[in-house]
Amino acid sequence: MTERTVYLDNSATTPLSEAARAAMLAAMDSYGNPSSLHTLGQQSEQLVRHAREQLLGCLGVRPRQGTLVFTSCGTEATALALFGTAYAKARRDATRILTTDSEHPATARALDALEKNGFEIVRIPTVGGVLDTDALCAALDRRIFLASFMLVNNETGALYRLKEAFSLIKRAYPDAITHCDAVQGFMRVRFTPQSLGADMISLSAHKIHAPKGVGALYIDGELLKRKKIVPYLVGGGQESGMRSGTENVIGISAFGAAAEDMNCRREQTEQKLSALYEYASKGLEKLELTVNRPREAHVSHIINFTLPDIKSETMLHYLSADGIYVSSGSACSSHSGAPSSTLMAFGLTPHMADCSLRISFSEYNTAADIDALCKSLRNGLEGLVRIKR
Ligand code: PLP
Repeated sequence: MTERTVYLDNSATTPLSEAARAAMLAAMDSYGNPSSLHTLGQQSEQLVRHAREQLLGCLGVRPRQGTLVFTSCGTEATALALFGTAYAKARRDATRILTTDSEHPATARALDALEKNGFEIVRIPTVGGVLDTDALCAALDRRIFLASFMLVNNETGALYRLKEAFSLIKRAYPDAITHCDAVQGFMRVRFTPQSLGADMISLSAHKIHAPKGVGALYIDGELLKRKKIVPYLVGGGQESGMRSGTENVIGISAFGAAAEDMNCRREQTEQKLSALYEYASKGLEKLELTVNRPREAHVSHIINFTLPDIKSETMLHYLSADGIYVSSGSACSSHSGAPSSTLMAFGLTPHMADCSLRISFSEYNTAADIDALCKSLRNGLEGLVRIKR
């Protein structure tokens, strides 16, 4: 076993930033309940309010344009968006929901549940990491009331052209509600709710160097005012009545601080990550590995590649023993054992999907990490057993 840690699994989760750690430590002393009316409660409420302002600032939201509802994770934010709008829908014939065929399970499984309850789910293809706008146009129909598309694919790094997709939908059906799972895009890609055309946006703290156990859903002000979304977690009426339950003050404080910290170093980080992307792609190609680069736009912090007839899990454990941490797809679906449906939607065969690994960077990675990965991969490629096609 090795002592080193080369962490290349930042799409699964990220290490805490110093800013997040400091905010958590400071918030630990504010034990008042943010809903309590006394001074201790107000102190905690002020921490939550400050984090909300920091995050809305990073999202480029204008005052009163919309609000941010804190949840326990990105998955819960998406569940609120999808179930909340499905339960609220007023028109009986509003039954169709558009999505992609490569969503994270947080969206895909929630929509499967709605499908079982009579909704019609249309899954738009994303071959090569490109949202098929012809298929989207063909699916446009007056029964549409909701569209839920991710911004950045967590397995391939594809950056979907949401502005175009959402405006096609809104132009045809202005009342349709648009939701974006931006869990992998927040603070990595520059966007605002307007630039995406999204009425709701899901975020997750632990992907941006804050702790696990916090997420948020941005909700457009008009949507709230017109009661186009209803809460499914009811109780004390916290979070504008949209998500009852005492807020995770410590985690929320860290979420705001981590976002603001990343925002300060944005340009520098973007340059660093795009240099790392090119360096890693070249290194992998030198080893004659197939880099599954999206055909059009992609982010710089996620690379998926295919090994020649070596099961991804075999290589993953080999690298892990060498102190190098990567992923064989989404951390959330890696227990299912089935080849990734997202990679097959991308265009990989089941065999290729079974032999594919994902590396994902953060600003804490360096070229030396890529060198260590490539060296270990080379040894693995020489020594590991090949599987039959
Ligand atoms: N959506 C995407 C694209 C993700 O990558 C993830 C987590 O990997 C989630 C949603 C779920 O976020 P959380 O882990 O906060 O529930």
